[in-house]
Amino acid sequence: MERIALFPGSFDPFTRGHEDIVLRGLALFDKIIIAVGYNSGKTQRYFPIDFMIDKINDTFKDNPAISVQTYSELTAEFAKKNGANYLLRGLRNTTDFEYENSISQVNRYLNGDLESVFLITSPGLAAINSSIIREVHKYQGDISEFLPYKLS
Ligand code: ADP
Repeated sequence: MERIALFPGSFDPFTRGHEDIVLRGLALFDKIIIAVGYNSGKTQRYFPIDFMIDKINDTFKDNPAISVQTYSELTAEFAKKNGANYLLRGLRNTTDFEYENSISQVNRYLNGDLESVFLITSPGLAAINSSIIREVHKYQGDISEFLPYKLS
């Protein structure tokens, strides 16, 4: 059976930290679906969803095992629909751990077939945080170092 993992997140924006988790995940899974969650109209994104989908597609264009989709439903349901039995997540610090600990238990309650798999961030990438990157960009700071693609 194919091992399919869903890598869910808001990816606003998708960073080198996210890229690292996906590339390392390839050693564990046959396919990885990057699932960009959005809350239909409710939460305003900073980087438009279509723009980010294009950039992620660009980043992994040479790797057919990686695909990108958007979703706006329960992650556990979306995983089931896509035949994914694993959720891939990254852990940077204890704050991530506390959050991921709860959410993985809820996801497993919602979909008993779903195992969450956590990869610890690679050295040097733990400080990369999408919300800080948004702030820097908002005030015209250069964020190119943190992204695996060119913004323009
Ligand atoms: P969410 O909106 O669920 O927080 P994010 O898009 O911020 O989603 O992140 C998606 C996943 O990537 C989460 O598991 C998060 O912990 C992980 N992640 C975010 N930044 C990094 C990083 N710099 N290194 C490794 N993992 C990261």
